[in-house]
Amino acid sequence: MSNLSVELKTPITGPYTQPTGLFINNEFVEGVEKKTFEVINPSTEEVICSVHEATEKDVDIAVAAARKAFDGVWRRTTPQKRGILLLKLADLCEKNLDLLAAVESLDNGKSITMARGDVGAVVGCIRYYGGWADKVEGKTIDVNPDMFHYTRREPIGVCGQIIPWNFPLLMLAWKIGPALATGNTVVLKTAEQTPLSGLVFAQLVKEAGFPPGVLNIISGFGKTAGAALASHMDVDKIAFTGSTPVGRTIMKAAASSNLKKVTLELGGKSPNIVFNDADIEEAISWVNYGIYYNHGQCCCAGSRIYVQEGIYDKFVAAFKKRAEENKVGDPFHPETFQGPQVSQLQFDRIMGYIESGKKDGATVVTGGERLGDKGYFIQPTIFADVRQDMKIMQEEIFGPVCAIAKFKDEEEVIHLGNDTEYGLAASVHTKDLNTAIRVANKIRAGTVWVNCKSNKDANPKTPSLPHLSRAH
Ligand code: ADP
Repeated sequence: MSNLSVELKTPITGPYTQPTGLFINNEFVEGVEKKTFEVINPSTEEVICSVHEATEKDVDIAVAAARKAFDGVWRRTTPQKRGILLLKLADLCEKNLDLLAAVESLDNGKSITMARGDVGAVVGCIRYYGGWADKVEGKTIDVNPDMFHYTRREPIGVCGQIIPWNFPLLMLAWKIGPALATGNTVVLKTAEQTPLSGLVFAQLVKEAGFPPGVLNIISGFGKTAGAALASHMDVDKIAFTGSTPVGRTIMKAAASSNLKKVTLELGGKSPNIVFNDADIEEAISWVNYGIYYNHGQCCCAGSRIYVQEGIYDKFVAAFKKRAEENKVGDPFHPETFQGPQVSQLQFDRIMGYIESGKKDGATVVTGGERLGDKGYFIQPTIFADVRQDMKIMQEEIFGPVCAIAKFKDEEEVIHLGNDTEYGLAASVHTKDLNTAIRVANKIRAGTVWVNCKSNKDANPKTPSLPHLSRAH
């Protein structure tokens, strides 16, 4: 053991070696300022280990490594070879699925079942982009008989990527997959709450045979390392997933530095709409999954639930029963559905929202308290009879808390659904295909699920009704 790794263990894998350095040029290194920070286990509130912290100088070093790799080797690597490397990396993630999932559960607190699902999706995502690497084509355009006019798809260059803590590995895969497949090099900063799985993943990057500097993974804080990446003059693109206020900061940093390209994926307060004619059992199952999956720590969580008046009382009673059946506790227990929230800060924020719901006079149907006295566990919480202007109906809570309100008809619920500053996702539950398509088209959201919620191919539960989803 050096000061660049530490021996840890998980109930699934037993002992394993956890890298703790910054992964730059295919090596784990200390930060220039030799700073470290503690990583907390959200189930116990105890320190798991310390990792090295990247500061501005380390960001410079990582960006220089990515630039050198881009100019020197990666842009001369054939698309086929890029694809093969990504496919190898996907294979290695599959081979190490248990380890990656266990580290994710340890550090983030998500249940081992969900973590395994996440890593399965990581494998699928990297494989998918590996398949794309040699299928990126330009066009020829007939502009003039005397001219040959064509477009060529070229890599952007060095991509900075900043990810949040709710899906540490999956976010990483979503970001690096398309960037590497299309010939870019990357400096990715993990979230300070959850740096561990990215460092285990980094070992696999080296093992897969990626040239040094192509993918650099650094641990560090937003205001230092993140800000340095977003405003770096030699970073050509910044991709960010996280909170809306930080998204604004990133865009400003890009604008006031080198006008780098920006992609942002920010918050949500997604409506989940249940009509009188819905299959109520199915709807409850998906509404429950939609809000409590990943402890409510999802940007597309179905946190606003609108139920038509004909089934409102029946729905609320049955949903209460369902939510109370969710197993909350030790993430490593195979039956656990909900683990702890990720950090003290998130725990306090969520408890603050619960207090505000109570104070504003919403009805607590179930939950509303912390669970136990150690770890950041919160009871699955349902507020009913929530007015549209209450904070818990307007603001993103990012926890296991939902707000239910009654609606009369389609026109009213479209108005309520669209009365938000977000537009990420939505869900409609009805057996009438005409209603489903009309509402899906009128709700202003990037993704609308019909008769399901947050449904992905990697879901552990296979529902019985056919599902549609409409993406803009
Ligand atoms: P949350 O509030 O859910 O923790 P944040 O948006 O604060 O989400 O964090 C998401 C990611 O953005 C993390 O990797 C964090 O370090 C990073 N981050 C936070 N603040 C900044 C900033 N000012 N500039 C760049 N990155 C930041």
